[in-house]
Amino acid sequence: ITLVLGGPGSGKGTQSTRLATEFGMAHLSTGELLRQQVASGTELGGQIEGLISRGRLVPDPIVVGVLQAAVKDIVRAGNAGKGILLDGFPRTLAQAKLFEECVGAPRTVVFFDAPPEMLRARLGARGRGDDTEAVIEERLRLHAVETPSVVEFYRQGGVLAGTRAT
Ligand code: ADP
Repeated sequence: ITLVLGGPGSGKGTQSTRLATEFGMAHLSTGELLRQQVASGTELGGQIEGLISRGRLVPDPIVVGVLQAAVKDIVRAGNAGKGILLDGFPRTLAQAKLFEECVGAPRTVVFFDAPPEMLRARLGARGRGDDTEAVIEERLRLHAVETPSVVEFYRQGGVLAGTRAT
C-alpha cells in the first residue's frame, strides 16, 4: 500500500495517476470513490453529496468502509500484485488509525506539500463543482487543521517521503 497525501489542488490526483501507471499499481482515489457513490443515487450517496458540496469531510467510518470494499475488489480480481496506491486518504488521524486496523500499514506515504495560496490559485483555475470560493476556503481550512497530525503520524512511523511544490 502506498498513500498519496496533499491539499486540495496540490496535484496529488494527477501525480497519483502517473505514479500508478509508471509502477503498475492499482489506483484508488477516495474523492472518486465517493463521487461514484453520489452518482449511484443511493441514500448514502445523497448524504455524501451534501458533505462534498459544502467542502466538509465525509465521516471516517464511511470513507474507510467504501475504501475497504474497493481494496477487497482489487485483491479479489487479482490486480494488487504490484501494490495499491491510495490517493486522498487518510484526511484525518482517525482515518489513518482505522485503516491500519481494518486493512494494514502502508509501506510508503508521499506528501505533496504546497502553501495555501498556491492551492487556492490552482483550485480557482480547475473549476470542478466543489471548486467555488466558499467551498474552497472550507476545504483549505480542514486540510490545514487535519493534515499535520496525519503527516506526523507517518513521519514517526518512518514511512514518510515528502515533496515540496515549487
Ligand atoms: P480535493 O483533494 O481537490 O479536495 P478529492 O477528490 O480528493 O479532491 O476530494 C473531494 C472531496 O471528497 C473532499 O472535499 C471531501 O469532501 C471528500 N473526500 C475525499 N477524500 C476524503 C477522505 N479521505 N475523507 C473524507 N472526505 C473525503
